[in-house]
Amino acid sequence: MSGNPIKATIPLDEDGEHHGFLRLPYSRDDSAWGSVMIPITVIKNGAGPTALLTGANHGDEYEGPIALMELATSLKAGDIEGRVIIVPAMNYPAFRAGRRTSPIDRGNMNRSFPGSPSGTVTEKIADYFTNVLLPEANVVLDFHSGGKTLDFVPFASAHVLENEDQQAACVAAVEAFNAPYSMMLLEIDNVGMYDTTVEDQGKIFVTTELGGGGSSTATSNAIAKKGVRNVLKHTGIMRGELEIGPSKMLDMPDGDCFVFCQDDGMFEAMKNLGEPVEKNEVVARVWPVDRTGRLPIEYRARRSGLLVSRHFPGLIKSGDCLAVVGVEV
Ligand SMILES: [Zn+2]
Repeated sequence: MSGNPIKATIPLDEDGEHHGFLRLPYSRDDSAWGSVMIPITVIKNGAGPTALLTGANHGDEYEGPIALMELATSLKAGDIEGRVIIVPAMNYPAFRAGRRTSPIDRGNMNRSFPGSPSGTVTEKIADYFTNVLLPEANVVLDFHSGGKTLDFVPFASAHVLENEDQQAACVAAVEAFNAPYSMMLLEIDNVGMYDTTVEDQGKIFVTTELGGGGSSTATSNAIAKKGVRNVLKHTGIMRGELEIGPSKMLDMPDGDCFVFCQDDGMFEAMKNLGEPVEKNEVVARVWPVDRTGRLPIEYRARRSGLLVSRHFPGLIKSGDCLAVVGVEV
C-alpha cells in the first residue's frame, strides 16, 4: 500500500450498495482534527469487471456529478454483475466551492497526477486514485465539460495510444457512450492528467466534454445519464440493450485545431458550436473595451472543420483558448 492517509468509510469489495465517504484528514483553523469527506458509492454483485466512474475532476463541471449522483441512488446490486465505484466529485473541495481548482491548495486535479501521499490535499486525492482505486478498475469513465470558461459540443473521447489494442478498446467504449459527437482528442498539455495515468495503467478509458459555461442543461445531463449506462452495458456489468443514436466522429489531427487569443477585450462569437467553418474564416472577434471608433480584431480558423469549442465568458484575455475546430471523419 501507498501510505495514503485517505480511508474509505465503506467496504470497497462487499456485495450490496454502500454509500459513504473517502475520509481525508485535513487539519486546519476551523477543525483541528478535521477531514475532507469525499462522497463515494460502491455497488457490487459477485465476480465481474469493475467500473470506476468520476465527475467534478474540475469542480465547476456538472453533467458528471448529476449523472453519477442519479446513478448512485438508482443502481442496485441486482442490476449488475461486477462492481461500480462512483465518485461524483473527485476534486470535492473544488466542487463545493463551484470552482475549477481547489480552494484549499489551488490544485487542478487534472494536472496533479500521479499525485503524492504526502502532498497537498489535491495531490493526496490523486495518489489515492492512482494507487488504490485505479488498479482495481477495468473500465474508467471520467466526466468533463467546459466549466465556467469554455463551452463544447457534447462529445465522448479517446486518445491516440501507443498500444493499438488498448486504443481500439477505448474507442469501442466511446462509441458505446454514444454522445452526439465522438472525438479522437488531442491534449494541449497531458502532463499530470488523470487520463494519462489511467491509460498508462492499461485501462479502458472514456472521457467527455459535454457542455460548459459553469452549468448543465436538460440535454447535456440526458447525454451523461444515457452514456454512463451504455458504458456499463458495453462492459457487461449492467444487463440490457445499449441505447444508440447517431454520433458524428471527429478528429483533432494537430495543433492547428486550436485558436488562442492574443488580445484582451470583449468576445464576439461569429460562429455557433457545431457549425461548419472554413480555413481562414472568422470564428470570433475581440472588441476593445475602453473606446469607441476602433475596429475589432478578427480571429480566424486555422483549418476547415466544425466549431467544437469556444471561449464562454463575455470578456476574453490574451492567452485564453478562443476556439477549437474539429475535423469530421
Ligand atoms: Zn474538466
